[in-house]
Amino acid sequence: MIKEFTCDLHIHTCLSPCGDLDMYPRAIIKKCLKERLNVVGICDHNASENVEYVMEAARGTPIVVLPGMEITTKEEVHIIALFDNVDDLLFIQEFVYKSLHGMNREEIFGCQPIVNEKNEIEGFNEHLLIGATGHSLNETVEEIHRCHGLAIAAHIDRESFGIIGQLGFIPGDIHFDALEVSFRTGTKKIREQHPELTRYAVIESSDAHFINDIGKGKTRFHMECPTIFELKLALEGREGRFFVTP
Ligand SMILES: [Zn+2]
Ligand SMILES: [Zn+2]
Repeated sequence: MIKEFTCDLHIHTCLSPCGDLDMYPRAIIKKCLKERLNVVGICDHNASENVEYVMEAARGTPIVVLPGMEITTKEEVHIIALFDNVDDLLFIQEFVYKSLHGMNREEIFGCQPIVNEKNEIEGFNEHLLIGATGHSLNETVEEIHRCHGLAIAAHIDRESFGIIGQLGFIPGDIHFDALEVSFRTGTKKIREQHPELTRYAVIESSDAHFINDIGKGKTRFHMECPTIFELKLALEGREGRFFVTP
């Protein structure tokens, strides 16, 4: 049976150097419940150590947490990767860490705490998460697909780290499952600005770095269950699945 799922597929935690320290797992889930979200993607910059704790915080609630990551490619483009399970995410984490060099400098970029579902600090990620990996766009999208994930070009309406802002266009040979636009621009406006994007599914997410931004951008997916396979069908508008943006 096809049901409607309200999804915000791009939410950061305090692990992201630019994420607010109030973005710890329990607080995120509390706000997601308040916003009546059904499915959320947890996507920190080049890292994933808080994902399992957010999943743990969601246990016993109706919220489904999709493990994800926001990967910075060598072109300095942000790509959202979403998966069905943590095992797939860990493969992508290994791929990312292989080419992410440098150590974080807290005094400049902020701290990167790993916080569990009980609000306890488990440690700090010392990688330079704000940096770019050495992987190209093409390599990154291919690797996400090899790990059974969805590859979404993040905030294409943003000058910095959005694919159009960085490259000036979207290369036709990169197989994105969707493009994401921020709630500030919205899908209608981006389609007016870029009529060449007709072939792409364009979704809205919050890219929340602060608790109050969670759920500001969302997409309603009509599908049987919240899996990567069903999301893909909805993005492609196949087998009765589809999606709607506000
Ligand atoms: Zn981003
Ligand atoms: Zn983001």
